[in-house]
Amino acid sequence: MQDYESLLKRARDNLPDNISEHQRFQIPEPDVIYEGKLTIIRNFQEICDTLSRKPEHLLGYLLKELGTGGNMEGRRVIFKGRIMESRIRNRVEEYANIYVICSECKRPDTSLARDGRTLILKCSACGAHRPVRVHKATS
Ligand SMILES: [Zn+2]
Repeated sequence: MQDYESLLKRARDNLPDNISEHQRFQIPEPDVIYEGKLTIIRNFQEICDTLSRKPEHLLGYLLKELGTGGNMEGRRVIFKGRIMESRIRNRVEEYANIYVICSECKRPDTSLARDGRTLILKCSACGAHRPVRVHKATS
């Protein structure tokens, strides 16, 4: 009679490769610290590198969405005001979903191209492309 452990192992071994953990795309957690009335993301450059996007582009998005001012300083970004870490994390994930992740294969191996007035997200992993849907700012 087989024991539970080996049954479990066999079930795991039968999982298809594409849902195994190591293939999931992970955005680095924003490393946020506060100094007085400033909010600092210490690993901003690393986040941009992982997403393969220009820091200025992500920064522009965050400033608009968070409704604050700020600038890069070396590998860090400094925002004016205290911004909750969870808000920053949510916005970074939102950015990735809009500008980076392929909606077909969920991989980040994409690039942006302009087609007339439309920004197109092209996936080099599966060949899919879609227009970038930028929601209208309400504030
Ligand atoms: Zn794709």
